[in-house]
Amino acid sequence: MQSRVVALGLPTASVRSAPVRGSTATLDDGRPDRPELIDRYGRIARDLRVSITERCSLRCTYCMPEEGLPVIPEQLLLSTDEIVRLVGIAVDDLGVREMRLTGGEPLMRRDLVDIVAGCRRRCPDLRISMTSNAVGLARRADALARAGLDRINISLDTVDRVRFADITRRDRLPAVLAGIRAAVAAGLDPVKVNAVAHRATLRDASDLLRWCIAEGASLRFIEQMPLDAEHGWQRAEMITARDVLDELSRSFRLEPIGRDDPSAPAELWQVDGGPAVVGIIGSVTRPFCDDCDRTRLTAEGTVRSCLFGDDEVDLRAALRSGADDATVADLWRGAMWRKPAGHGIDEIGFVPPERSMGQIGG
Ligand code: SAM
Ligand code: SF4
Repeated sequence: MQSRVVALGLPTASVRSAPVRGSTATLDDGRPDRPELIDRYGRIARDLRVSITERCSLRCTYCMPEEGLPVIPEQLLLSTDEIVRLVGIAVDDLGVREMRLTGGEPLMRRDLVDIVAGCRRRCPDLRISMTSNAVGLARRADALARAGLDRINISLDTVDRVRFADITRRDRLPAVLAGIRAAVAAGLDPVKVNAVAHRATLRDASDLLRWCIAEGASLRFIEQMPLDAEHGWQRAEMITARDVLDELSRSFRLEPIGRDDPSAPAELWQVDGGPAVVGIIGSVTRPFCDDCDRTRLTAEGTVRSCLFGDDEVDLRAALRSGADDATVADLWRGAMWRKPAGHGIDEIGFVPPERSMGQIGG
């Protein structure tokens, strides 16, 4: 990171500043003439997150309002062909190397298998993954694997059915467990389970880890961020990476083994001498913004450079007004050049973004 910054003569992202909010200022001055998605702090985005819907089969309290998010009319969502075209531009023109479908819940889209197959045909070497709650995955895991999905992250906070229903506001635990088993059986590799660290489910952390180890899934806990639609997040109420580690240490012997990749922010711990490993992501208490290599497309086709920056650039409008690939790529580069230094959650005066996790795509 440091050497990239020096080479470009740019400030480091760790010189923190408040995220740019809804800014329309032109900050492209000084951008080096390079094809990649570089920002003012020398970071290069190679990991694309594509949200494909705001709809969801669950209503996790830390993400969605009880009634769900406002519905996006179908004609305002990126179509299958538009998604495939934008992914092709990201890979061919902008140097993106991996792509993750997210939402909302990607399985809510009927054309999900077509989207995966289209991206695979367009970009044969791209690593394609998906983040999903796994409701309904049992029926579609094989088709997704055949279409070209490589791997999957599944969200699951507890294997206790009552507390699962409390936190997701839906009694769908059996469907989720069946979905995880189907993903393993379909050969998706790795199958990772993501658990948001939460006061209501902290006591279930060890049971969840035992279940994941037995089923061949790799578990990672993540600190809850202020991205809930109801803006109820409070720093003082947060369960930290340290709390999760303390809870797991009551049942397991955990040895730190570092990170597997600087931009894959989980700190890894070997469980009871291995081979099992558990990851803990301190997104709030140990931010990894300095190494962030993500660029995001919302379901409506805007580029979002950061989860926490409300500044978005509309690529759907460009596509629909007949822009060529080079023009779309330039708009994308400009959006990423303005990426904020960091989320600033622990700073005085922090303001959460307008959009919630389910509207941005986690
Ligand atoms: N519906 C899919 C799922 O749940 O996996 C994909 C979308 S979801 C928004 C993506 C990820 O964001 C999930 O792993 C979820 O647990 C996580 N998430 C949602 N709200 C969060 C929050 N406030 N803080 C941290 N992670 C959050
Ligand atoms: Fe739906 Fe995923 Fe948000 Fe839960 S975290 S409400 S499953 S989008």
